[in-house]
Formats: sequence, C-alpha cells, structure tokens
Amino acid sequence: MSLYSRKELLTAVVLALAAIAVGLAFGILGWTLFAAAAAGLVYQHRDLRKFVRWAKKPLRRPKLANEGLQQASRSLRRSLKQARRRTHEALQQTSHFRGLTAALPDAAVLVDGEGNIENFNNASVALLHLNRKDAGNNLGALLRHPDAIELLEQQTPDDTAEFSSPFVEGQRLELRRVPVAKNQDLILARNVTHLNRLLTMRQDFVANVSHELRTPLTVIVGYLEAMEEEALDGATLRKLVRKLNSPTHRMQALVDDLLMLTRLESSPAPEPRDLVAVDVQQLVHSAVEDLAGLAGKRHQINQRMSCALRVLGIEKELHSACSNLIANAIKYSPQGGNINISWTDGGDDGATLEVSDEGVGIAPEHLSRLTERFYRVDMAGARVRGGTGLGLAIAKHVLKRHNSQLQIESEVGKGSRFYCHFRPGQLQPQESS
Ligand code: ADP
Repeated sequence: MSLYSRKELLTAVVLALAAIAVGLAFGILGWTLFAAAAAGLVYQHRDLRKFVRWAKKPLRRPKLANEGLQQASRSLRRSLKQARRRTHEALQQTSHFRGLTAALPDAAVLVDGEGNIENFNNASVALLHLNRKDAGNNLGALLRHPDAIELLEQQTPDDTAEFSSPFVEGQRLELRRVPVAKNQDLILARNVTHLNRLLTMRQDFVANVSHELRTPLTVIVGYLEAMEEEALDGATLRKLVRKLNSPTHRMQALVDDLLMLTRLESSPAPEPRDLVAVDVQQLVHSAVEDLAGLAGKRHQINQRMSCALRVLGIEKELHSACSNLIANAIKYSPQGGNINISWTDGGDDGATLEVSDEGVGIAPEHLSRLTERFYRVDMAGARVRGGTGLGLAIAKHVLKRHNSQLQIESEVGKGSRFYCHFRPGQLQPQESS
C-alpha cells in the first residue's frame, strides 16, 4: 500500500521545484522552501482532520485527497460492513433459536464445544435457574454435578445424564446432549421427578401384586400336593378341597379389585348419557345385605338416610365404593360394634354419605396414604382380615369420577368416619327421576 498517489507526488515535486526556482530567482530560497513545506503540512493536516472526523461516524464515503488515508478508510469501511453483517447474522440466529425453543416445555441450552453457554430458552430460567448474565459461563460449573460435567465435557459415551437438581430439593433432572454443529451442542434438560415416581410406583405395584397372589397360591399348591397322596380317603379329600375355598376366593377378590381399579383409572370420565339417578338408600341397603355376616361378625348397623336426593352416576361403581367403606367399618371394628351410615342433604353444599364406626381407628400419619394401592396400616393384620388393600383406592377413584371426594377422619381406639361429598350438580331430586 503506497502512502501517496502519483498525482500527489507529482504536485509535491512541482511545488518543490517552483519553490526552488522562485527562491533562486529572488535569493530567498530558504523562505520559499519553508513556505512550500508549510503548505504541504497544512494540506496534509486538513486531510487528517477530515479522516479523524469521518472515523468517528464512518457512514458515508469520506472526501480525502491523501491516497493512504483513502485506502485506510476503504478497509475500515469494509471491516465495519463485515462486523455489521456478522452481528446481524448472530442476532438472526439468536431470534431463530429463541423462536424455535420458546414453545418447548423443556430447557434448551446452546453450548460451545467446552460447554460454555451461548443461548438458552425461557424454560431454562425456571428449570436451570439461568439468567442473562450466565451467557458465556460454563453450564457444567453452574449445575455442579459430576455427571452433568462429564456429559458436557463429552467424557462419557452416553448422551444423557440424570442427577438431583442443585436448585430444587428432591427434583431429578435429565440432561440430553444433541450435537448440532462442529463445536456446538444443544443441551435439553427436563424434570423427570414425576416420571421416576411413576416408574417406582409401577415397580412397587408389580411387586405388591406378585406378593399378594403368591400367598394364596402357596396355600393352594400345598393342599394340591397333599391331595396327590394316594392313601387319602374320601372324607379327608373333601376336607382338603374345602380348604381350597378361602385362598381361591382371596385370589379372585384380588383379581376382581385389580381389574376394577385398572378400569377406573384408565377409562375416561363417564359421559352424561351414561349416568343414571342412583338411589343411595337402596344402594346402602343392598351393600349391607351383601356384607351381612362378613367374617362371621355381628354388628349393629344403623342407617339414617334422611336425604331424598339421588346421585347421578354409574350404579356399579357407586355400589363398589359404598360396600368397600361398609366392609372396612365391619372389618376394623370389634364384634357388636356400632356402625352408622347416613345420607344427608347439605343444601347448597350438596349431599354427604357418611360411614362411621367405633373400631380400631387410624393414626394421623397414615391418613393421607390410605387411598394408595396396597397401603395398609397393619400389613399382617389386614391380610388376616381378608382385605385386598385396594378398597379405598377404588372408593377414591369412583368418587373422583363422580366429581366427588373422599374425606377421612379417625382417632386411634375410638373409630373412623369416611365422608363422600357429592356436589349439587351431581344430584337429582327423587320426584324428577
Ligand atoms: P384393605 O383391603 O386392607 O381393607 P383398604 O384399601 O380398604 O384395604 O384399606 C386400606 C387400609 O386402611 C386398611 O388396611 C386399614 O389399615 C385402613 N382402614 C380402612 N378402613 C378402616 C376403618 N374403617 N378403620 C380402621 N382402619 C381402616
């Protein structure tokens, strides 16, 4: 790059020669040379000032005479254009990324090859507690977990890692690394706490069902083996066959309850056209009759059915919920104990079916878990009493499907009260049915 153009050099030479000629002619060579140099300097200074002024706001092409300054301004304009284009591209990329990932329910973080944050979506703010200042910071360092760091630093062949959230206690996070370009990965993070809980529940459920079935099956297998012995007379054989009754019924009850619960859980809420006006008085009456003599016990069952309202629902389901509550009242209270069943009109609050007993009662720490499948206060005792451990889970689901809910109050040694509240919209006066 030359500092001066040929024209400028020529002008300078002509000016110098003219100064020398005039200086020699008039004997003032020193003065004329000085004047020529000063003119040159002024000329250059003007150009330099123009350049400096332009460089502060380099929008238009500057009017410069000096070749060097012109070239410098041209390359400066070129670099500026490139920088502007790059900024524009980066902004476009950012808004494209944000647009694409904004709707994602999971956190999405764009990182470079070293795990430094380049961009992130809205969900990352809530889940990974990222904020604007974190751009450029290392994601692994923020998550502070060895598995996350390994994944981000690509030290593991796996593309996912699961670990406890450093921000929310008890929350489990899953990170997935998706390579998107050379030295650029998309890190997707989601909350898997609920999913893990469901998996554990499923495993527990399978383990519980197997356990519940194994006990009666072992008994049946034992009797069948005894029957195989050749020397048994008819009377002994009949006695053994009768012994098969109890474990077989137990297995049947368990399978029936399991099928019922699965159907309740998996089928959609009943459609209005499937609902009938169920007479609660009759429902309770038939449930009490079915349960008469349960486990050979005799109880005083008092019914106060003052409400004439009917429940709009599915009779078979309501019958099952009702008889589970009454069966429990019988099972968990002593011989001769009082059991009260009432159906009361609560006006604008709807109507309530209450089943209360004066039995063993339930300690407060168990109350919130009673409707879980197979949850029992006294495992061994409940099995002896013949329950499947699914009765209250069924009752809860039936009530939920009828826009209703189960409320439990109890005191150890004094007894328990189970309330089924039905909303006014779920009720129908008797005469209009
Ligand atoms: P189960 O078949 O074991 O009775 P449920 O789901 O019906 O199963 O009840 C779960 C547990 O709740 C029971 O095992 C028992 O510990 C407790 N429970 C239910 N009803 C009563 C009651 N009326 N009085 C005391 N405990 C009860």
